Amino acid sequence: MLSDERRQTIAEIKKAVAALCDNYGEDYWRRLDAERGYPTEFVREMTEAGFLTALIPEEYGGSGMALLDACAILEEISRRGAHAGACHAQMYVMGALLRHGSDAQKAAYLPKIAAGELRLQSFGVTEPSTGTDTTSLKTVAKRDGDVWKISGQKVWISRVEHSDLMVLLARTTPLPEVSKKTEGLSAFIVDLRSAIGNGLTVQPIDAMINHHACELFFDDLEIPLDNLLGQEGKGFRVILDGMNAERILIAAECVGDSRYFIEKSSDYARERVVFGRPIGANQGVQFPIARCHAETEAAALMVERAALLFEAGAPCGPEANMAKMLAADASWKAGDVAMQTHGGFAFSREYHIERKFRETRLYQIAPISTNLILSYLAEHVLGLPRSF
Ligand SMILES: Cc1cc2nc3c(=O)[nH]c(=O)nc-3n(C[C@H](O)[C@H](O)[C@H](O)COP(=O)(O)OP(=O)(O)OC[C@H]3O[C@@H](n4cnc5c(N)ncnc54)[C@H](O)[C@@H]3O)c2cc1C
Repeated sequence: MLSDERRQTIAEIKKAVAALCDNYGEDYWRRLDAERGYPTEFVREMTEAGFLTALIPEEYGGSGMALLDACAILEEISRRGAHAGACHAQMYVMGALLRHGSDAQKAAYLPKIAAGELRLQSFGVTEPSTGTDTTSLKTVAKRDGDVWKISGQKVWISRVEHSDLMVLLARTTPLPEVSKKTEGLSAFIVDLRSAIGNGLTVQPIDAMINHHACELFFDDLEIPLDNLLGQEGKGFRVILDGMNAERILIAAECVGDSRYFIEKSSDYARERVVFGRPIGANQGVQFPIARCHAETEAAALMVERAALLFEAGAPCGPEANMAKMLAADASWKAGDVAMQTHGGFAFSREYHIERKFRETRLYQIAPISTNLILSYLAEHVLGLPRSF
């Protein structure tokens, strides 16, 4: 249960985020979506206001907020019709550096990230031939004198063209030589500014949503030995440690999407008159919206619970996963109901619904698909046999 004081703080954070979002109305996002543009000004203003550096401790120049505060920021961005996909990674990719970086790495990067001088908003894990089976990934990093040489391919890596640094996962010990598949993977910090064109080729993917996702081709890219993040061979842990926070943050974003759709649906159902009365006077129209409201508020409670456990340093894997799944389901359903409520006008880009509908669909698949969450719950919470 949140204290009144904490609720007040969260309400104030949301109010400040909403005020900033008001400078970037929905037509701004519609234009970027059509142009496949990046919200450079919005991200800069969010960073300068300290919102995207929410989770960087104050000693490194960040805002030093707790996870639930960061959740409030992403939720409100989504709620205002903005696309939080351009913002969330700044919050959680940095966590890998904070938790596993050496003192020198943290001192070199974190203050600059907090000041908005460096952008660490890219995270390279997924590969075309292995997908969700992360430990089978094929990108390799080999020591060669005083550098690591990286070869392989990644796919769907977001914001690479709008980031200075990327956290990359690659195999450093071949799979047949490790006792567990999770061993022998290592995480690296790649400086994209020097890498692109010098062993790293970036190819944007023409995708359904404006997420700036790219395919990456590594051809003996050389990076300094010092760019290893955490221990060699323990990179899977680096990635795993950030997953709960990432899931909770994404879940908050979905709650924001859902509340956006519910508000839009309710407004439209009150105003749109057909057969001489508002469509919202029909229970066939109002019940689906009311159900979405109930499901969204339940998901929001799970987000809050997961975030509070995380803040307390308590285990929160099941709650983080359930929050992500329930919130993604709620937002997807609320998006569908918003489409139905708006009738034919839902298809007009002017109403913005179809853009958010496309955007929120992502969270059934990324950063983890619903099936993988269910398999985690089945195996690790319910004790059912491992399925893969
Ligand atoms: C817009 C976008 C942005 C992205 N950004 C990033 C990023 O920045 N960095 C990054 O590393 N990745 C990113 N991804 C990749 C994303 O994390 C993956 O797409 C996702 O993890 C699923 O992997 P896959 O696409 O290879 O699906 P697959 O692994 O091929 O799975 C396909 C389907 O099969 C199901 N499935 C697979 N195995 C099982 C099983 N054992 N049991 C039940 N069902 C199963 C999955 O649930 C899924 O529905 C992004 C993806 C998109 C679309």
